[in-house]
Amino acid sequence: MTMETYRWQRKHESEPPATVSVLRTLPKGKWTVHSEDWTVPPGAVAEYDTLERAMSAADQAVAAHAPHDCGRTGCGDWMPVPPAPTDASPGTDPLT
Ligand SMILES: [Zn+2]
Repeated sequence: MTMETYRWQRKHESEPPATVSVLRTLPKGKWTVHSEDWTVPPGAVAEYDTLERAMSAADQAVAAHAPHDCGRTGCGDWMPVPPAPTDASPGTDPLT
């Protein structure tokens, strides 16, 4: 059984910098907007049918949080984030 979690992240070179990510939630397969640096406004905390719509909503939320010109400030592109290794994986005892 696979834990098929998709996560994309974009770092905006705004002031202050704002990193947003979109996560695919299962089993429905909807996309949601998250951020580690700031509170995503309630209007952007929704479920989106497509990755593109979620990314667009995330960018708009950043623009509202820290207005800037993505092209001029050289914001990074949306990048896929590989899933973090799970602590519970068997046979990987860090003490040995
Ligand atoms: Zn930007």
